[in-house]
Order: sequence, then C-alpha cells, then structure tokens
Amino acid sequence: MWFTTHVITGVVISQAIPNAQAVFGTALLSHIIIDILPHGDNILMGNDMEEPLHAKIDKKREFFLYAFIDATCSLSVLAVLIFSKKMDLVLLFWGIFGAVIFDIISSINYFTRWKWLNKFERFHIWLHTLLTRYFKKGDISPKFALGLQILFVVVVLGALVY
Ligand SMILES: [Zn+2]
Repeated sequence: MWFTTHVITGVVISQAIPNAQAVFGTALLSHIIIDILPHGDNILMGNDMEEPLHAKIDKKREFFLYAFIDATCSLSVLAVLIFSKKMDLVLLFWGIFGAVIFDIISSINYFTRWKWLNKFERFHIWLHTLLTRYFKKGDISPKFALGLQILFVVVVLGALVY
C-alpha cells in the first residue's frame, strides 16, 4: 500500500479516538488490515519471502522515485490538514506513527538487510499475500490500485477538511 494511504488512515484514527495508546494500537492494526487487502504491491514490489523488497524493484532509482513521490504526497496531505483543521498533534503523531511503523521497519530492512528483521519482513509479505496468493496474477493491477488509493485519499481528505 502506498505510504500516503496509511498516513491518511492514521490521521482518521487519531481524530476518532481520544487516547494515545488506543490510537497507536488501532493505527497499527489498520496497517495490518489494509495490507491484507489486495493493492498491487506484489506486482510492483515483488513478494519473495527469501528476498524481501528486492524481487521486482531491484532498480534503486525506481524505488527512490516512488518513495519520493509517495513522501511528497504524504507531506502535502499533512500540510493541507494541519493548516485547515484544528487537530491534537500528539494524537496525530501516534496515529500516523502506528499506521506507518511497519513500512518504516521495512525501509530500514531494505537498506540494512539486518538478519533479525527478516522474520518481521516475512510476516509483512505474508500479510500482503494472504488473499492475493489465490489470484491468478498474484495481485490486482498496480495502476488500478493506485487509482483506488488516490480516490480514497482525496475523498477522506475532503471529508476531513470540509
Ligand atoms: Zn505494509
């Protein structure tokens, strides 16, 4: 799932629950549930348990381009929200942190290849493939998934701001 999708989900959770620990836990759970939904990553990123994160995007430039666009979108969404809406920043932090910590750990694994993170990465990939393993192509189209996620982010952002 694109980072921005997790971020906006974390934002929604931080606005719905008034307790920091509960926000963090729910946001963490949201990442797990969202990752199980088929979203094109297996075609884009690969789903090789032995070589986590290295199967398809082996060209580092492509990975960085995606990561850069995704991070820019996330920051833009946050900027729009923070300037247009009064929010509890502590809860906002825990919501976003809980929603993205899985991907932060995956990114650390991508760069360091620390062995002790391998188990975690396998679990992350297992989530990604829980439903898609029954799909003929291994996932839905990444472009279609991207379209759905853009729609999701725009609709939720609109609902939050207005
Ligand atoms: Zn994930």
